[in-house]
Amino acid sequence: MYNYAKKRYISFSIIMILAFVLPFIRINGNHIFLLSFDRKELHLFFQAFSTQELFLLPFLLILCFVGIFFITSLGGRVWCGWACPQTTFRVFYRDFIQTKLLGIRRSIKNKQVQPKSNIVKKAIGFIIWVVISLIVGSNFMWYFIPPEDFFRYLANPSEHLFMIGIVVGIALFLVLDIVFIKENFCVYICPYARIQSVMFDKDTFQVIYDEKRGGKIYDDKHNLIANKPTGEGDECIGCRACINICPTHIDIRKGMQLECINCLECADACSGVMGKLGKISLINWTSENAVETRSETRVFRPKTIGYMAFLSLIFVVLLLVGASRDSLLLNINRDSGLYNIRKTQDSLVVENDYVFLIENTHSKDGKFYFKVDSDLIKIKRPKDEFTVNSGKKEKVIVTLVMNASSIEAKDDDIKIPIKVKAYAVENEDEINVVRDSVFIFPKNEQLKRYKK
Ligand code: SF4
Ligand code: SF4
Repeated sequence: MYNYAKKRYISFSIIMILAFVLPFIRINGNHIFLLSFDRKELHLFFQAFSTQELFLLPFLLILCFVGIFFITSLGGRVWCGWACPQTTFRVFYRDFIQTKLLGIRRSIKNKQVQPKSNIVKKAIGFIIWVVISLIVGSNFMWYFIPPEDFFRYLANPSEHLFMIGIVVGIALFLVLDIVFIKENFCVYICPYARIQSVMFDKDTFQVIYDEKRGGKIYDDKHNLIANKPTGEGDECIGCRACINICPTHIDIRKGMQLECINCLECADACSGVMGKLGKISLINWTSENAVETRSETRVFRPKTIGYMAFLSLIFVVLLLVGASRDSLLLNINRDSGLYNIRKTQDSLVVENDYVFLIENTHSKDGKFYFKVDSDLIKIKRPKDEFTVNSGKKEKVIVTLVMNASSIEAKDDDIKIPIKVKAYAVENEDEINVVRDSVFIFPKNEQLKRYKK
């Protein structure tokens, strides 16, 4: 006998525990996934990337979208039935809170009748769900504000109203959705339900009523012929167990329908009924081709192999791009002033000011310094090397200087291209980054004023 319900409970439990626990796991201070707008960081598989490295995000999005196409073409709405938060929370609220914990529903076998009105128990169930919704809202935020910051912010709520507003907003949505909208969300609102059927083919796993064995219940125009087929050898006994248990209130014997979330509860129900008659279920998780040809569903076919190859390729590219990232990031901004001209004891010098934003993406703290690739231009400040801790950014004001007699001035300012190298003093060969910038040398007319 099938027991998909038990397997689904295990799947939901694993997903919920993982979603809750993963934000707390850190390796070298990094999370498995964190997109922090606050820290301007992306953490992926315990590696920290700065917002300057968000070129990784398109790869992740491609992985995500192609992954959805692949899963849908292979397993149909397997996501809806086994992993979607909407289904997970509905099952948790209906099967656990309302049925097991409070006994508001006598069993989960008939979802076509509303639970009997027990206002007190319903109110308790509602309050429990409000609390859980707030925890889920917080849990969602931990992928954007890590728990170590989240709880610190929570101690100071008046300064973090935006964060608290989002958590409360998510919780309100969850209460509305799970308690009031219910499976209508899957049937009328969810966009994935609308587009997924175009990804199906005849080998896609679906929940299918075996009409050849069970008998015809609906005609080709989907009109009901009879609840219990009358043909010789038709096995469906018309008990309606599969209809009663369905959370989206459909009759799977009508064929594939948009409303079906592939929860397989009807397959469990029919397997219970048929099992008592010594037969196997008339409703199975199989494919159209498998039912027609009485064979196994083809998992490996050109379409799925193509998806797998493409996904593997993108994954390898993501790993390679992630591994080849710089251990140091440097952003150079010129000061708003073009240049300064100064008279020293024995010469006239030109200075350009810059703001360097240096970020240490290496796993260790380090001492850093800059070099300018030019014989004529020198660094006036900073004079000494400076420390940037691992994962931190520092703003450094840099002044470059050049003797005014080094080159001949022209009628216009001269832009001299320069290469600036930032490097770890103790590991220059491995930890360094080079950026292009310009040094502006003043026009003749400007210099003449200082030469007088
Ligand atoms: S027909 Fe209903 S019970 Fe059967 S898998 Fe679809 S949604 Fe679930
Ligand atoms: S549970 Fe099985 S036997 Fe009963 S009505 Fe549904 S398909 Fe027919």
